[in-house]
Amino acid sequence: MTTEASDAARSAPPSRYPLTCRGCAAPLARVFVDLGSSPLANSYLEPADLAAAERFYPLAVYVCERCWLCQLPEAASPAEIFGDYAYFSSYSTSWLEHARRYVDAMISRFGLGASHQVVEIASNDGYLLRWFRERGVPVLGVEPAANVAAAARELGIPTEVRFFGLETARDLVARGLAADLALGNNVLAHVPDLDDFLAGIAVLLKPGGLATFEFPHLVRLVAENQFDTIYHEHFSYFSLVAVARVLERHGLEPFDVEELATHGGSLRLYVQRRDAGGRPVDARVAELAARERALGVETPAYYESFAEQVRETKRKLLEFLIRARREGKRVVGYGAPAKGNTLLNYCGVRTDFLDFTVDRSPHKQGRYLPGTRIPILAPEAILEARPDYVLILPWNLSGEIAAQMAAVRAWGGRFVVAIPEVRVLP
Ligand code: ZN
Repeated sequence: MTTEASDAARSAPPSRYPLTCRGCAAPLARVFVDLGSSPLANSYLEPADLAAAERFYPLAVYVCERCWLCQLPEAASPAEIFGDYAYFSSYSTSWLEHARRYVDAMISRFGLGASHQVVEIASNDGYLLRWFRERGVPVLGVEPAANVAAAARELGIPTEVRFFGLETARDLVARGLAADLALGNNVLAHVPDLDDFLAGIAVLLKPGGLATFEFPHLVRLVAENQFDTIYHEHFSYFSLVAVARVLERHGLEPFDVEELATHGGSLRLYVQRRDAGGRPVDARVAELAARERALGVETPAYYESFAEQVRETKRKLLEFLIRARREGKRVVGYGAPAKGNTLLNYCGVRTDFLDFTVDRSPHKQGRYLPGTRIPILAPEAILEARPDYVLILPWNLSGEIAAQMAAVRAWGGRFVVAIPEVRVLP
């Protein structure tokens, strides 16, 4: 990823073929799963866009047979993907709570205070840094999407509008902003140029500093059929052993790891400089690596059965929807997350199956899902339409959503999820 924000990214298109591994530069030949082609998952359409064509990009994930990093080749530039997207973190209650708990945990474990500097990469609208700020810890956000960064600044969170990489890191350090804690929650997977990003982290950290990264765990993606978490913003799909190998090339090491429930199962990795970190490596790191190896993450067989499992899910979702429609049932969606766009585009589900979907974010209401062009309404639309089935697209929040929308059950409506398998909720 280039660092001079979007101009450089636009002027330097990535070379796409032949494909090489972004972890180790070996040639990439083995397809892990091919989801066809899809528009960028966060390119929600305005009514005026409906008359125009959309750009579709290949959506096939490869696995490197040398370092076993699963990855989506860069089909669009970061500027195209992240330029003006409609995702504002603050609209999910459980995600806000996750951020607050993270901040409490970091402050108490690492003793952070007024003399320390926290730097968050992809800081979004300040949903997390605000909690550090409330506790008196100096913060800086780095966020490439200008509209989202503006929302953070309104909250009083200092935010740089740029991509993070080696050049940004050198600039921040030169300005006295080296980090005691650098964090990237759901950012590592979004980085097309991992080498440049991690070189930047190694520069940004003070001696004794640490970085934490949260990212969806490949092992959970495979075990729980979470293929809809594959979209163009997600360039890498990490096992612990694969990410540790990339970190090592930049003089970084994981010194602890936690397994989290977020996003269907994530890892929180604690990373330090190998030369100056100073913390002992927790036994949990070796334990998880051993567990992954026992599952076979460094063998081709582990990756081979996944594609068929994905195709079978498509057949089952279509069977469910066709039957419901034949019976005259009304089906609508709940949520307009990026992952829903992968699912609906891959399965070919449009307004022939889902009348509309709803989302709490006013930034999405009144727009249309990319590719499938399903209208996005406010949640109250469900109460008016009284559908028979509500397909919950953000399945990781299905408990929260079913509780918020409990009124649906009053007219006999049922909630449905497609992942890990097509299922009507009890
Ligand atoms: Zn590789």
